[in-house]
Amino acid sequence: MRLRTANRSGIVMRRRVLPSGDILVTLLTPQGKLKAIARGGVRGPLASRLNLFHHVGVQVYQTPNNDLATVKQAVLEGALPTLAEPGRHAFAHLMAEFADALFQEGEFSEQAFELFAGALRGVAHQPDPEWVALVMSYKLLGLAGIMPQTARCTRCGVPDPAHPDPLGGQMLCAACASLPAYPPQALDFLQNAVRRSVRASMEEPVPPAQRPPLWRALERFVTVQVGGVHSWRQLVPSEVEAQELLPGTR
Ligand SMILES: [Zn+2]
Repeated sequence: MRLRTANRSGIVMRRRVLPSGDILVTLLTPQGKLKAIARGGVRGPLASRLNLFHHVGVQVYQTPNNDLATVKQAVLEGALPTLAEPGRHAFAHLMAEFADALFQEGEFSEQAFELFAGALRGVAHQPDPEWVALVMSYKLLGLAGIMPQTARCTRCGVPDPAHPDPLGGQMLCAACASLPAYPPQALDFLQNAVRRSVRASMEEPVPPAQRPPLWRALERFVTVQVGGVHSWRQLVPSEVEAQELLPGTR
């Protein structure tokens, strides 16, 4: 049987231990996503190297009739230990789930890798990891080419909408909306986050009190356009708040 061996370097974005003790990992690499299995991984030296968010160099081999590569060796190339902190861990998880959902094997690979690696570094080191996660989520959406429509009301097409669209996560005009308009900073973020540089967005954070509706919009948009992302449920502020803002309170 012919084996194809390859060396890859990437970040562990998903990791699952199977009942057999094998570890199933998905790496995001500059050449795209790579799914591989580390046989008997939990008992071997690979286990601690193939931890979530580790940057690893792996040697994998693949038989011609099996899509799933096998990890033969793994060396740790970089780790971000502060991602284990409670205030950062959930955001790192969210970024990993998000990148995994957005990018298919081989697609937008090199830029996706750079953006994802930058997002994890930012979540690990910046004083405001929530803001990093919001900014980088919109940048990842932009890279994947799936962007919320902000120039026109998603329901009637009138220009310059400023209200949340609770169903699709896009924007509604005053006439179509049931929720109050976004405050100016949140609105500016939604209109410009994708094309603005990360650096520029980092310099002008939206105040934390204005972020819950931004998360909700992102959650709705991603759920409708891409499919569910599991970590949202722990992170996205509860829908109870949204109910309290329904008509009558405007
Ligand atoms: Zn409208």
